Amino acid sequence: MNQAVPLSLQLAWFLATVLFVVGLRRLSSPARARSGIWCAGVGMLLAISSMFFHPQLKQNVELIIVAMTLGGGIALLHARRVDMTDIPQMVALYNGLGGAAAASIGLLVLLNVTEYGAMAKAMAVLSGLIGSIAFAGSLFAFLRLSGRFSRREGFAKRQVAYLANGSLVLLLGLILATSATAHPILLLLFALLAVSFGLLMTLPTSGADMPVLISLYNALTGLAVAFDGFVLENPAMIVAGTIVFAAGSLLTRLMARAVNRRLSEIMYSGFGLGTEVQNKEPRRDHVSTIDARDAAVDMAYADRVLIVPGYGMATAQAQHKLRELTQLLDERGVQTGFAIHPVAGRMPGHMNVLLAEAGVPYEKISDLNDINAEFSQVDVALVVGANDIVNPAARDDSESPLYGMPVLQVDQAKRVIVLKRGDGTGYAGVENALLFSPVTRVLFGDAKDSVQALIMAIKSLD
Ligand code: NDP
Repeated sequence: MNQAVPLSLQLAWFLATVLFVVGLRRLSSPARARSGIWCAGVGMLLAISSMFFHPQLKQNVELIIVAMTLGGGIALLHARRVDMTDIPQMVALYNGLGGAAAASIGLLVLLNVTEYGAMAKAMAVLSGLIGSIAFAGSLFAFLRLSGRFSRREGFAKRQVAYLANGSLVLLLGLILATSATAHPILLLLFALLAVSFGLLMTLPTSGADMPVLISLYNALTGLAVAFDGFVLENPAMIVAGTIVFAAGSLLTRLMARAVNRRLSEIMYSGFGLGTEVQNKEPRRDHVSTIDARDAAVDMAYADRVLIVPGYGMATAQAQHKLRELTQLLDERGVQTGFAIHPVAGRMPGHMNVLLAEAGVPYEKISDLNDINAEFSQVDVALVVGANDIVNPAARDDSESPLYGMPVLQVDQAKRVIVLKRGDGTGYAGVENALLFSPVTRVLFGDAKDSVQALIMAIKSLD
């Protein structure tokens, strides 16, 4: 169906592809990540703007420009206004919109089915299906991350509904891919069933599994875009989609390992909802507390202090104060560092991004696997708004929904100081056994205020 594509356009697509690959390569180092984003952004601009010179794009150019201006304008305003703490849900929402856009292309191709060959129709069915699943799942992740939907949902006979929904959507896909004429009603049904399949897959996901599904949906959006690229014979879309799919798949594997789960278990984890979320209130009266001055003395006279940041550091925006605290301790000869869990916070790399933004040197930051054996040599572990990632129940309590997930072995440190505001449990809604350990003291309050109080108290020791 393609007319000959001019050489200049093909060169532009090639250049865009090179920029995507170089951008991705640069993203692998925090120091070069900013230039990587620029590089990939310029590549995307080139890929999109070059399309206006495509010989087939004669119709609806004005409408496309209006849509792009509106969409781009809204995204720009939104991105400027969004709080740092809302970035994870913004990423989930935009990924969902990407899935919806990819699915729409596939569905529109199926609506104009007579213009396309058998292979293109099969690809369009796949992009419609996968894009709709990514849309529904990412939208649900957005609702959960923004706290609008916190319960795991399950219902009787969910297995039957899941299988029936899956079989029906595949059957409809087959009919659409092999039809000589377009069936708008069938197409609508196909889209609705693909969306409901994505919802059924995601609704019962437990807290600890959410990061894995978020990366999976990101990979699926890339795959849907790559299928669209095949249908539209657009190499830039094929390459960009494949890169997102490959990177997302690797990330999914890493995240699944970080929570010690198999992908198949996660996708079917809700079947029967075997382990219910406990959602117990922490027994605050059983927790030993500490004030900022005593905590400051513990840290100032320690040989080694390790900081474990979690989601609470992001909500409090305490990363800059933490950098100040470590500088102060370093000047006193205390060895300081940060221990990062791969699923800490609400998006992959969340803690690394915030600490890099605050100017914490990379050599001070260690990953779970590298640091876990060292906690027994740590005098003070300072847990800043982290809960699930330091819960020893994941290691010791086979009844815990977190059981089997590797956690930072904070309870092995000589002393543990936990900064938190109150009785809140973490994302998984599970009581944190660390709070009741004999080595743990809790300093209640907003993490940023508490770290500021620690800084003041350490300064007053001189
Ligand atoms: P958690 O959500 O488990 O715990 C956050 C803790 O921070 C709570 O104890 C809360 O207690 C405290 N807190 C919240 N706000 C503040 C504040 N302003 N000041 C001080 N403390 C505060 O976070 P973790 O990082 O430990 O674990 C991440 C969880 O999120 C995991 O379960 C992970 O699976 C899940 N997840 C991760 C994603 C990812 O990609 N990284 C994506 C989706 C989910 P209190 O309210 O009492 O202050």
